[in-house]
Amino acid sequence: MKNIYGLSLEELNLYFEENHEKSFRSKQVYEWLYKKRIKDFDEMTNIKKELIQNIKKHFYIKFPNVIERRSGKDVEKFLFELDDGQRVEAVLMKHDYGNSLCVSTQVGCNMGCAFCESGRLKKVRNLSTSEMVTQILLVEDILKIRISHVVLMGIGEPFDNYENVIAFIDIINEGKGLDIGARHITVSTCGIIPKIKEFMNQEKQINLAISLHAPNNKIRNRLMKINKVYPIEELIKVLKEYIKKTNRRVTFEYILLKGVNDSKKCALELSDLIKGMNAYVNLIPYNETSHIEFEKSSNDSIMKFYDTLKKQKINVTIRREFGSEVMAACGQLRANYEEG
Ligand code: SAH
Repeated sequence: MKNIYGLSLEELNLYFEENHEKSFRSKQVYEWLYKKRIKDFDEMTNIKKELIQNIKKHFYIKFPNVIERRSGKDVEKFLFELDDGQRVEAVLMKHDYGNSLCVSTQVGCNMGCAFCESGRLKKVRNLSTSEMVTQILLVEDILKIRISHVVLMGIGEPFDNYENVIAFIDIINEGKGLDIGARHITVSTCGIIPKIKEFMNQEKQINLAISLHAPNNKIRNRLMKINKVYPIEELIKVLKEYIKKTNRRVTFEYILLKGVNDSKKCALELSDLIKGMNAYVNLIPYNETSHIEFEKSSNDSIMKFYDTLKKQKINVTIRREFGSEVMAACGQLRANYEEG
């Protein structure tokens, strides 16, 4: 038995083929699931009873439980409980261009970035494809909105759960289903090079964001363990290949941490590192968390860093701050719960 929300349209086609049914059945079922949002297969009035019985033998419909909700200005945070009692979060951000949902990909995370709450609690397991899809459906249902953008920046490292993540993107991108455009989907990774190479060969125009956070190995090693496996120069090299192959722009995420990576020297070093690349830098004001010693850079340092990059002709933006009042920083709500 499988949650039907983990199936792509093609997989559903295959199931119907195996059961000697016409393939348009899968489109009908997708309609019921994604447009009409049924909670029970019996609601599918244009599908004959015997077939519904067969579907029920193979699949079920199930959503996680919402165990906490917090809202702030233009932001809403959800804590979900999964079938086995594990908890993950999703954060909805209302932008002028649409509603963006930040989804989790794993329960916990093994990347162990020094500044991040998610990594303080080790990975328990990967999320299944349906556990990612239902995060979107639940939030849409509860808030009565359509989610137009999805960012894979919640708890977990998407490229440490590659197969399920790609299957998830396939499903939410499907025109007969949620129909979220590939250009509206962003995968964020700490820089797992073999998976970036794999990702480069998939056809969809999905956005790639890289958590860089430092301009050199010395600082990056201190902040991100993964850099000891895949050092910065190799990461930049593979990203240049990615840009050449896909013709797509890469986003560099750069959290500004007081006294750690926010000096003018760092800004100049960062400019040199990425100069000429089809890329832009998204400067992220650090969301301070009570358990971790790093501090947020002052607004003045953030502006100076921004100006230095601009002067070097680097495309740069400063991320709008969302949700510090709802503990929206990656993994904060869950971590708070697990520790009581
Ligand atoms: N593992 C993936 C995606 C999850 S983290 C990755 O590393 O990209 C999503 C983004 O939030 C990353 O850029 C991460 O570095 C950043 N982040 C983590 N903790 C944060 C905090 N307290 N404040 C601001 N950004 C944070």
